[in-house]
Amino acid sequence: MTEFSGDPRTAELAERLEAVRRRLDAAVAAANRPAGSCELLVVTKFFPADDVCRLLGLGERAFGESREPEAGRKVAEVRAEWTPADPADAPVFDMIGSVQSKKAGSVARWARAVHSVDRPKVVDALGRAAASALDEGHRTDPLGVLLQVSLDGDPLRGGVVEEDLLALAERVSAADALRLRGLMVIAPLEGEREHWMAEAARIHRAFVERFADAVELSAGMSGDMEVAVAAGSTCVRVGTAIMGDRPLVSQ
Ligand SMILES: *Cc1c(COP(=O)(O)O)cnc(C)c1O
Repeated sequence: MTEFSGDPRTAELAERLEAVRRRLDAAVAAANRPAGSCELLVVTKFFPADDVCRLLGLGERAFGESREPEAGRKVAEVRAEWTPADPADAPVFDMIGSVQSKKAGSVARWARAVHSVDRPKVVDALGRAAASALDEGHRTDPLGVLLQVSLDGDPLRGGVVEEDLLALAERVSAADALRLRGLMVIAPLEGEREHWMAEAARIHRAFVERFADAVELSAGMSGDMEVAVAAGSTCVRVGTAIMGDRPLVSQ
């Protein structure tokens, strides 16, 4: 048991986490997919390192963060506080928010993967940053890259349009310190979720024909995880349904 057992916040997180795990398992089963074939990434942005430690105590290992330098600081705090008996139990953190080129150096030191890569300049910056991080011993594996695909071309939400996707993927493949893992989507607010997730699945199927190892599809959040899992998501990014509403103050 952790030092947090018995505190009300831990109890609240445990209850919501359990409900989300049940939803995810049910969605995977309903899609006739093998149990455990969709990863749960708990999105802890805006919440403190203590909450991440509580979730570690509840058995979660994979977390999503979206902003530097908040994320890097929090990861360092968690790693200082949580020393797993078995190194295989060490927490992993993915970057799910957009990365500015000048922040690539710090992100490459803590992130397992970046889900939101959508332009050549960021690919190049992450490629250089990951190479340095490997050289300097800040990481042992190449940095994972998921290309964020824009489903409706809206520049506000970010993402690369389908026409430019393969060229961007070639650029990732050419960088030794990066490993192309797949695609990420955020469904537009307008229109049917089923329609957008079907679009994501279609684009991903075509993508895997060209990049056979890039099997990941990061899709689905608190509100649409079932639809995403039905469409083949391999990673849902769930914040609000587990953490509660994000605080209004930005950190
Ligand atoms: C914040 C965020 C999420 C989590 O969204 P919820 O609706 O809180 O589950 C997922 N993906 C991205 C890219 C995010 O920024």
